[in-house]
Order: sequence, then structure tokens, then C-alpha cells
Amino acid sequence: MSLNGIDFSSPAARLSSQSAPAGMVPARDAGSGRSEQAMFAPKVMVVEDEEPLCVLLRYNLEAEGYQVETVMRGDEAELRLRESVPDLLVLDWMLPAISGIELCRRLRARPETERLPIIMLTARGEESDRVRGLATGADDYLVKPFSMPEFIARVRALLRRAKPESVANVLTVKDLLLDREQHRVFRKGKAIGIGPTEYRLLEFLMLSPGRVFSREQLLDNVWGNNVYVDERTVDVHIGRLRKAINIGRSVDLIRTVRGAGYSITVE
Ligand code: CA
Repeated sequence: MSLNGIDFSSPAARLSSQSAPAGMVPARDAGSGRSEQAMFAPKVMVVEDEEPLCVLLRYNLEAEGYQVETVMRGDEAELRLRESVPDLLVLDWMLPAISGIELCRRLRARPETERLPIIMLTARGEESDRVRGLATGADDYLVKPFSMPEFIARVRALLRRAKPESVANVLTVKDLLLDREQHRVFRKGKAIGIGPTEYRLLEFLMLSPGRVFSREQLLDNVWGNNVYVDERTVDVHIGRLRKAINIGRSVDLIRTVRGAGYSITVE
């Protein structure tokens, strides 16, 4: 089997580690300082039972800075998707237990996943079924074999369409601007000095303007759920963030919702 010019029958292509084997070239260079974004990087789930392809897709998606989860069976994917919903699903057509097409149909029937962006993968010969795939609710499809740059381009395009903020380099709320590439924050066009924790906190809040997050949710998402930090720590950093962004006589953009948590205001 050959995909993207790589012969999967060669021993070099059969890998189990996450490192790049010879011949596996990511669609783009991974060393572009994206690691700091990883915490809020879009989550992509890949459901594919061909292991070499699964590994290749994971490798290329991770090189692009996405968080990736791979699953090799349809029923397993259905269970995982009940626990947590990714930002995008890459779904193979033919899978053990539950086919991709059936899983897609079931996902569209559930409110939690009815709008989940889905790219369907089909083998050549299943092309006549494309229409059926799209009718069942997939947003896009790719016919195997496809190139990795094409795959990544489709993933990006779909994410941009479905969830523009997740791939945006610049987040804005009123006169506040956060540049994710430069890691800088501006208010009314003026650069603001901000600590790394306050930056992550602000980035997280700006990804969902208006949405109220509890202290616990902020701890899990900004500090990570393996870190033990007191919930009052959130208040301390919110205080610092307020001080940093509310320069001069600016309107306070952080809203405290008593008993609920914090949000970045959109009103
Ligand atoms: Ca398959």
C-alpha cells in the first residue's frame, strides 16, 4: 500500500513511536514556536482502522499543533465521543463494529455532536458513495490515497468555517486585541505588559467571549487538571489580569458573576 508516496509495506514505515521516521515528512515544519499554544489547540479525533495511516495522520496533525486522539474502531469512537467532543472528527468510512457512515448518522442525531465538523475518508471505489456520505452529514470527504498537505488544508478549512476562533491568530473583544503569534496583548492599540498565566487566562476567556467559566473550569483549562492549585489562585490572577488590561479609564472587560465565575464581557 502506498500513501503520499510512502510505502507502508516497508519496515521503516511501520513504527510505534511518536518520533518522525525516515520518509515521514510533516506537511509543515513543526518547529515554529507553536508549542505554547498547545493548551488551547483545536482537538482532532481520528477514527481509522489502518494503523499506518492512523499514525501518519496523527503525526501530521500534531506537527500542525493540533491535539490528537486516535481510535481504531467505530464502537470505541462512539463511546469516546460521549465522554468528550473534539473540535473536528476525521472518520474513516469502513470501520470495525460500527461503520463510519453509521457513526456519522448517529452523531448527527445527538444534540452534542449534531454540528461537530466531520471529514470522511473513503477508499477509491467507494466514490459513488460520496454523495451518500455527505447526505448522511459529513462536512467534507477525502478519497484515499490523498496527500498530507491536502489533508491538512481540508482540516484547516473546515475548522476555519466551523470554529473560526480556534484557528485565529488574533482574538479581539472590543478594543482589546490578543495576538497569538506574537504572544502580545494590546488595548486601544497600546501594548500591554502581561504575565504568562494572565496571558493564558485571557486567551482562554477570549476564545469564548461572554461565556461564564467557574473557577474550577478555569483551573482545569488554564492551569491543567494535574496541577494542584487553590481556587483562590484564580481570583488572584483575575485581579492581576484586570489591572493589566484595564489601563487608564478603560471599561472593565472582566465580568465577575457572583457564585458562578468569570467571563470576558461582550456587552
Ligand atoms: Ca477502514
